[in-house]
Amino acid sequence: MANYDVSLNEFMTKIIAKNPGEAEFHQAVKEVAESLMPFIEENPKYKHAKILERIAEPERVILFRVPWLDDKGNIQINRGYRIEMSSAIGPYKGGLRFHPTVNLGVLKFLAFEQVFKNSLTTLPMGGGKGGSDFDPKGKSDNEVMRFCQSFMTELFRHIGADTDVPAGDIGVGGREIGFLFGQYKRLKNEFTGVLTGKGLAWGGSLIRPEATGYGCVYFAEQMLKTKGMDCKNKTFVISGSGNVAQYAVEKVIQLGGKAVTLSDSDGFIYDPDGMNEEKLNFVLELKNVKRGRIKEYADKYKKAEYHAGKTPWGVKCDIALPCATQNEVNEADAKTLVKNGCIGVSEGANMPSTPEAIEVYLNSKILYGPGKAANAGGVATSGLEMSQNSMRLNWSREEVDSKLHQIMIDIHETCVKYGRVNKDYINYVNGANIGGFIKVADAMMAQGLV
Ligand code: NAP
Repeated sequence: MANYDVSLNEFMTKIIAKNPGEAEFHQAVKEVAESLMPFIEENPKYKHAKILERIAEPERVILFRVPWLDDKGNIQINRGYRIEMSSAIGPYKGGLRFHPTVNLGVLKFLAFEQVFKNSLTTLPMGGGKGGSDFDPKGKSDNEVMRFCQSFMTELFRHIGADTDVPAGDIGVGGREIGFLFGQYKRLKNEFTGVLTGKGLAWGGSLIRPEATGYGCVYFAEQMLKTKGMDCKNKTFVISGSGNVAQYAVEKVIQLGGKAVTLSDSDGFIYDPDGMNEEKLNFVLELKNVKRGRIKEYADKYKKAEYHAGKTPWGVKCDIALPCATQNEVNEADAKTLVKNGCIGVSEGANMPSTPEAIEVYLNSKILYGPGKAANAGGVATSGLEMSQNSMRLNWSREEVDSKLHQIMIDIHETCVKYGRVNKDYINYVNGANIGGFIKVADAMMAQGLV
């Protein structure tokens, strides 16, 4: 047994004992630790400084009550969180998730991932994440507003443009960011870039809504390029139908690929003809305005099939883009993808593949871009929104998109640098984990024991 196997077991035993019941957090830490242990053994300065142990302990966790009144006048109580994980290389930065499955362990996993992801973007951003077990589904706009105002009435004292800059995530889109920003501004009496994902008229950046989905496809494009291929005429299976999935579809169409599926928590649609601009516009209206279900796609486009209660991984494809949620691709799904000829997986969602599914990708040597690299385009463009806010300037669509594209190329390069196994194979898991770690670790070493 290699020395680091012993260290990994000891390290994980302590993590599990210290963070009981936080399965997703254990999973995320273990995946990173597996990549880093051999690297840390080779670079003992990080071991002596206990960087990995320190990075896995949040700098600060804030937990608070969020009371609000529903439309019938009933009192509702939710729980709010903000995990301030690391400020080694910049202010805490990461989204807010509103979903009934939100708990401390889920948000700690997301905040932990965010530290490495933000470092990979090359921009000066620390890592954080937050949210609530509030479910926006089925709530009126007024209820969502009252909830957001109550949530911000506590959160505002902990965040700031140079301290902690939240953004959107599952259940938090343009509408929610608007309500949150309005309340922050009212409480602080200042107009600053305290949130990203803002509307264009009030400090937002062009391309921010598109950035995660676009970036995920740019990353797939870079991986394909290492094999002398591109996205043209490739078939893409995509899960989710929210922000990330929608703009992944748009970029696939622009690059000449064929996007054949979308899903939500009720089931998935399969359109054998692939989506085009008109069909995508229908999805945008359905999901972002009417807030309907993806089933309605198959009601509208008769050649499309709807599969209730199923995920799309059984559909034959060249590339899979999981863009819904964590652990949505299991071992059996991964085996099915590989058996059906899938040559690459680029993760738009955070940790969408289980550890067993990742084993399958790695053993079969397909192209596998983990979320912390492949979906970093969203936070990177949030970083560009922060830059524009600081300069009080707005860049054009083309300018932001070309910066985003270059950042995804650079992230891919970093993964290749630290993940190349031989001339034919790159382990992007190791590449992303080690590439993201070094900058944060060196900053921590330089800043002393804080
Ligand atoms: P979103 O707009 O709220 O969309 C989420 C989509 O995933 C919806 O179609 C939703 O279906 C589905 N979904 C959510 N929870 C699910 C569950 N437990 N089972 C099955 N389907 C589920 O959120 P998003 O911003 O696109 O985020 C999607 C993923 O990307 C998340 O993992 C997020 O952390 C990650 N991500 C987002 C960004 C960003 O900029 N937004 C950046 C980096 C990573 P229902 O409507 O049925 O719930």
